[in-house]
Amino acid sequence: MSTIKIDSAKCPQDHPCPLVSVCPVGAISQNGYGAPTIDKEKCIACGRCIITCPYHCLSFE
Ligand code: SF4
Ligand code: SF4
Repeated sequence: MSTIKIDSAKCPQDHPCPLVSVCPVGAISQNGYGAPTIDKEKCIACGRCIITCPYHCLSFE
């Protein structure tokens, strides 16, 4: 199965990440306003986070 990777350098890390609530399986978490992290064990590769991030930080790998 595909997994998701995040390019933290593209994330401005200055806002609450909307992807935390977009992910249907709770695989995305964020500490403060930092770049979010992906739990690859939980991720079902639905792609919602990819199309939601305005800075295109996420992609399939
Ligand atoms: S939506 Fe994208 S740019 Fe915004 S915090 Fe999440 S990963 Fe970073
Ligand atoms: S691809 Fe889907 S399941 Fe995986 S982290 Fe993104 S929103 Fe969550």
